[in-house]
Amino acid sequence: MIDSHAHLAMFPADERRAVLDRAGEAGVRAVLVPATGRDDIDAVVEIAGLGEGRTPAAVGFHPHEASACDTVWKRCVERLIESPGVVAIGEIGLDYHYDLSPREDQRRVLAWHLGLARERGMPVILHHREAWQDFLAALDAVPGVRGVAHSFTEGADGVDEMTRRGLFVGISGMVTFPKGDNIREAARAVPAGRLLLETDSPYLAPVPHRGKRNEPAFVKLVLAEVARVREVDPAQLERETDSAFEELFLSRPPHVVEEGRGETAEGKR
Ligand SMILES: [Zn+2]
Repeated sequence: MIDSHAHLAMFPADERRAVLDRAGEAGVRAVLVPATGRDDIDAVVEIAGLGEGRTPAAVGFHPHEASACDTVWKRCVERLIESPGVVAIGEIGLDYHYDLSPREDQRRVLAWHLGLARERGMPVILHHREAWQDFLAALDAVPGVRGVAHSFTEGADGVDEMTRRGLFVGISGMVTFPKGDNIREAARAVPAGRLLLETDSPYLAPVPHRGKRNEPAFVKLVLAEVARVREVDPAQLERETDSAFEELFLSRPPHVVEEGRGETAEGKR
């Protein structure tokens, strides 16, 4: 089992080992650790470097932090994505719910990250909230980027919009929430090879831990609920989601993206 999205850098440094041990005991063999910006970017790179492959990381600026992503930080991101264990750019996206950065900054910084991802041939981890049309427009402006729309909330039609663009879909513990019908619908709609599971720790703890601090071990509960709604054997779902994760994050695509070219083989599907 793999937790494809957990903010391990937000846990106190002296608790991370125990958190990962509990995950290991629950059967979790890898945890992808995304950055959100200035406060955790160094910590995720350090976690990736020390993790011996169990804690690959993503580097980038969350839409909340977009305004802080100036030229100096951009050079920093460009350098840090070359670090050992860094497998993706993220998490990046648009969040018009909180609007913690002006929307124009969010769009500009997302476009910059997507361009970098295409240039380097790296996958992205995408966050979106109440920004659906602008989110789709941003993706279409930089076609051919591989990635995952994490903690997906848009239902079955939204899943189609993502998979049409060659993207994966991440389902979080919200799938266990009583009001999570749209997420259960999405969890049913994702094609097997495109589905990832995640906790989004320390947020969004699944039932029965709701309201408490989430942690990667609880991805087991996400797996159980997604298996139930898809009516598949949990062991089969585990194999499918593990290999989807490996395909997206741990294998370089067969095509090398040429700088300055608009389309890749992936984008033409
Ligand atoms: Zn996140």
